[in-house]
Amino acid sequence: MISWNDIRTHDPAYIAFLSSIPEDQTTYTYPSIFRYVKHTECVTHPVAQRGYFSFDTYTPISYHATQAALVSGSLAATGAKLLLEGNCSVCALCRPPGHHAEYDRMGGYCYLNNAAIAANILQDYGTVAILDIDFHHGNETQHIFYSNNNVLTISLHASPEEKFPFFSGFASEKGEGKGEGYNKNYPLPLGVTHKEYDQVLQKALTDIQEFMPKYLIIAMGYDTYEKDPIGGFLLTTPYYTEIAKYLRSLQYPTLIVQEGGYNTEDLGKMR
Ligand SMILES: [Zn+2]
Repeated sequence: MISWNDIRTHDPAYIAFLSSIPEDQTTYTYPSIFRYVKHTECVTHPVAQRGYFSFDTYTPISYHATQAALVSGSLAATGAKLLLEGNCSVCALCRPPGHHAEYDRMGGYCYLNNAAIAANILQDYGTVAILDIDFHHGNETQHIFYSNNNVLTISLHASPEEKFPFFSGFASEKGEGKGEGYNKNYPLPLGVTHKEYDQVLQKALTDIQEFMPKYLIIAMGYDTYEKDPIGGFLLTTPYYTEIAKYLRSLQYPTLIVQEGGYNTEDLGKMR
């Protein structure tokens, strides 16, 4: 289990806020105002803090929510350490998910960016590719590594013109500085079938092979499932088995980090 102080993926002021939520705050609170200037000197009022460290109203704050986030981030960190110990395939069933959590803001039910926490541990030992195949764009997994050429970030997701997080996930976002060319977005239209999806996934797998990472992280979202209540793709459960075969065939040490996926009844039946 990691402590708040071990997390270097996020802004220290944001981590201080999350870790300051008192044990007796068991009811959920939501932001009612968002930051319109960026400074922290006078952001001490609870109402101001909630809005300063959030970008939407989907992500409530309570003591238990923040503690669950810390456990979830710890799980991803443990997964990374298991890869470093020589394991070839590790699955971290993280809840809450992480790929929407920005450097200094929560959002999209995400508080800590679990995949990024793992990648930051692994990149000390070699290059890392993160393939995000959640239905939604992994906005902050992209942003944290946007100037980094040691971590390739690739995301297949619903077009931001149609779905959350709306402001990022466009194909034109390719990285910047030395990270230019090391971020790839594949936005897809709603209603995409597994055959159409597969053509794009093969491109992403080629991107990964060309990069030749030492480690691979899969930000695995099952909200691409055809009956997902908040998704909009038409992927079937047998196709997830095909994806698993593709990923295994790459033969990189691989950490799977759970992101979204909300039809738990059907997904629970997968073998
Ligand atoms: Zn999602």
